[in-house]
Amino acid sequence: MQQGLEALKADHLERRRRLLDGAQGAHVTIDGQRVVSFCSNDYLGLAAEPALVAAAHVALDACGVGAGAAHLITGHHRFHHDFEAAFARFVGKPAALLFSTGYLANLGVLTTLVSRQGELFGDKLNHASLVDAAQLSGASLTRYRHNDLVQLEGQLAASTAQDKIIATDLVFSMDGDIAPVDALLDLAERYDAWLYLDDAHGFGVLNDGRGGMTDRARASDRVIYLATLGKAAGVAGAAVAAHASVIDWLIQKARPYIYTTASPPLLAACLLESLRQIEAGDARRERLRSHIAQLRQGLAGLRLGSLMPSATPIQPLLIGANADAVRLSQALLQRGLLVPAIRTPTVPINTARLRITLSAAHSADDVAQLVEALHVVA
Ligand SMILES: *Cc1c(COP(=O)(O)O)cnc(C)c1O
Repeated sequence: MQQGLEALKADHLERRRRLLDGAQGAHVTIDGQRVVSFCSNDYLGLAAEPALVAAAHVALDACGVGAGAAHLITGHHRFHHDFEAAFARFVGKPAALLFSTGYLANLGVLTTLVSRQGELFGDKLNHASLVDAAQLSGASLTRYRHNDLVQLEGQLAASTAQDKIIATDLVFSMDGDIAPVDALLDLAERYDAWLYLDDAHGFGVLNDGRGGMTDRARASDRVIYLATLGKAAGVAGAAVAAHASVIDWLIQKARPYIYTTASPPLLAACLLESLRQIEAGDARRERLRSHIAQLRQGLAGLRLGSLMPSATPIQPLLIGANADAVRLSQALLQRGLLVPAIRTPTVPINTARLRITLSAAHSADDVAQLVEALHVVA
């Protein structure tokens, strides 16, 4: 392990945990330094929103800290239950199930819906949790090139598996682009497959906050939708929305749901408030849109590298070599701007990038500062 750690250091691949003091937000104290942060997934600025904090205080007094047991024993609190109903209604699916994290939700859904004799089709850029879930399911995993539906169709047509599921990030977490949902649904219908949409980065942001599902996907019984709730929703957890029988089956069979302690009910109370803020969040989303436009305009002529095509708050600046991305990230940090360098194995080799994420909590001035600094360090 020591040799391995030395090798990671030499390759600029060693990961470090920065120490945050105080609340999450656009301006944070990291390792003792005040910085403008362009790396959280708190896209709407809800993580420290006073209305959510107030909801936490009220729930804390009402129900204490710990859930005390798993959902199927005695840990399923009314707050969990009410959030599931409110979430299902908001995204337009018949039923929903709350998991403790998105990672667990992906494990739960994929291990339950596809058998060892099944086949799972996944985009090559899918989040690590979908890849791990596929492996745990024991089904065979077939990966297709990023958003390449021609290749996916060939793979579906050649499959002899009993059950099939297509699983994809809806908004790709390191690229910021969006999966072609209706075209994927066409293929799922043609080849009788489930379609699983992991909308970790679209929920709260796209389509008035309802996320990246299209009307057709909403209406289709074969579409299973996941929103994670630690990103734009600002809290923690993840909710799966689907046909009521799918949800009932998950409650019976999904081991990552059954064999873990329920999340603290006060978090579900915060999520209920978060959902209200998301529903009423047009002003936040408008601010976010304006920041995205400002950043893209400001960096259009940058010599250093170019922003990848993205209409979401994830605005990666493609650099290439690990060492270059790390150097740039450090130069920005010296100017009080926190933008992480994302390297392999999170992204493919030689596509190291600065992953800029924007939030409604930023001001136009914060964005202007980042644009100017990037032109200077270029
Ligand atoms: C963050 C993320 C997850 C994991 O969600 P957590 O709630 O953080 O465990 C799953 N899928 C995607 C695409 C993500 O970006």
